[in-house]
Amino acid sequence: MISCEQYAAMVKVVLRRNIKLLDRKPHLVIIQVGDNPASNSYVKGKIKDCEEVGIEYNVLKCDKYISEVGLLGVIDTYNKNKFVDGIIVQLPLPDHLDADKITNHIAKEKDVDGFRADSPFDPCTPKGIIDWLEYNYYPFEGSRATVVGRSKIVGKPLVNMLIDRGATVTCCNSKTIDLHLYTSTVDLVISAIGKPKFFDHTYFMEYTTIIDVGINRDENGKLCGDVDREDVLHHFDEDFMDVYVTPVPKGVGLLTRVTLLKNVYDAYMMGGKDE
Ligand code: NAP
Repeated sequence: MISCEQYAAMVKVVLRRNIKLLDRKPHLVIIQVGDNPASNSYVKGKIKDCEEVGIEYNVLKCDKYISEVGLLGVIDTYNKNKFVDGIIVQLPLPDHLDADKITNHIAKEKDVDGFRADSPFDPCTPKGIIDWLEYNYYPFEGSRATVVGRSKIVGKPLVNMLIDRGATVTCCNSKTIDLHLYTSTVDLVISAIGKPKFFDHTYFMEYTTIIDVGINRDENGKLCGDVDREDVLHHFDEDFMDVYVTPVPKGVGLLTRVTLLKNVYDAYMMGGKDE
């Protein structure tokens, strides 16, 4: 099994090589509203990724008070631009903007975040996880999987993707009674709840594959996942940790980032725009 970090590096090498052969390069537009520190850091990561593989990009920073009509107009301009292959609006947006309305306004063939129901692209986080597991020949068929979290961009699409691959899937949420029952009896647990170090070893069997989607800060302000990695490490076999519990950072975040690059490349290829 190769790690998320190795996998992401390998995908980037392939993309870089493929993009090098193209006359016109794929182009991504990143729209950011306001100056949210988390958004700044996500956008910075996306810029670095694009540069690494040769995707062209521009970042449009809009004033945090931009009106909904104004922002929709900005999106319209890029929707019509035939040299733009992908458009993303960095979330979160200020409260006065309806994120669903804004992201649904991106032309479906340029919706590389995969947020629209009719987007040709899958959302990056679930797709990245599934692609990585598939690359590692994960035996989905007949496996028992629990997804904790039911958000539109992570939990729900993951459930469908796992079902499509023949897994028997349970999806838990904040109202689930006795979460242990659903996590400690399965082969695969995917956690996307956004609660720092919520899951200790008692939630798992020793060789369960644990995919930690959460990106949180612990009590010292350090990045951590939903899983209490130290506790799980302490109780289970250390040799298997990088394989059976994805780390945070350098885990699912890398899979998400690399999947966005793949989607931009695919959007370019689907548009047949090598002119
Ligand atoms: P979200 O929209 O806030 O959804 C969280 C989900 O977790 C909800 O369905 C909620 O249940 C459930 N939940 C919360 N507490 C729970 C508990 N104690 N037991 C069981 N379920 C619980 O979050 P999201 O957008 O899916 O993101 C989740 C986490 O993943 C965040 O930390 C986010 O930063 C991270 N994330 C990481 C990446 C990446 O690339 N690594 C990408 C996206 C998101 P209810 O529906 O009942 O409220």
